[in-house]
Amino acid sequence: MSARGDGPKALRVESLTARHGLLTAVREVSLTVDDGEVVALVGANGAGKSTLLRTIAGAHPSAAGAIHFGADDVTTRPAHQRVADGIALVPEGRRLFPDLTVEENLLVAARRARPGPWRLDTILAAFPMLAELRGRRAAALSGGQQQAVSIARALLTNPRLLLVDEVSLGLSPVAVETVYASLATVLRSGATLILVEQDLQRAMSVAGRVVCLLEGRIVLDAPTADVTREQVTEAYFGLSRTTGGAAADSTRGGGVS
Ligand code: ATP
Repeated sequence: MSARGDGPKALRVESLTARHGLLTAVREVSLTVDDGEVVALVGANGAGKSTLLRTIAGAHPSAAGAIHFGADDVTTRPAHQRVADGIALVPEGRRLFPDLTVEENLLVAARRARPGPWRLDTILAAFPMLAELRGRRAAALSGGQQQAVSIARALLTNPRLLLVDEVSLGLSPVAVETVYASLATVLRSGATLILVEQDLQRAMSVAGRVVCLLEGRIVLDAPTADVTREQVTEAYFGLSRTTGGAAADSTRGGGVS
């Protein structure tokens, strides 16, 4: 995990706004993520986490603002081009092809792959559980197994930035362990990671930085080591004294100010 500062920026989101019809789900969000960083994106239901991840991935259009990935402005690039650029989204709900086998689901992703370490053989070696399940239909998998396939499928595109929505939602404790073991494999490969996780304790133990959204705005952006769970919870529910519009900028690198 790289320290924040003058290091290479994997992602620079500037004043990004995204809407669903008349509803503004993401409001002028600015966020910078360094190469190799792990960021936990937290917030209550409807705070805008999924919309933000989907907009970064190009699965949802931006209404205003800019998204820079590495040296490129990708704001208007279609989703498939962003995959080719190295942005991969593991969407909420996993979205596997239910009638295809595990291997077939993986091969669909491999067709779009960028060159890199992840190929079907290296994925199956890194995820022995998937090697055992490779002939099974996706519909017959447990939730945790589906999430592991979904993460493996994203990895097969050899992303530089992996966006994982609702990592452990709806999974049994054993499945959550499986999924986090998969993510540990991802981290060892040096990818940058933004993950949405409802389990705050888990999020804060994995991520080097925590970003909290409230009603579409960033109300806290701080190194995990600099904030307590209570401070994050307060921001989460809008109870913090610092959750005004300017708080996000002022907390960059500095906890809840
Ligand atoms: P959750 O944890 O419930 O998924 P979230 O933080 O990911 O919440 P979003 O799903 O991004 O939040 O939703 C942000 C806002 O946009 C909410 O008010 C939600 O009702 C609204 N919204 C999300 N998707 C749609 C949609 N397809 N059509 C209309 N409104 C939507």
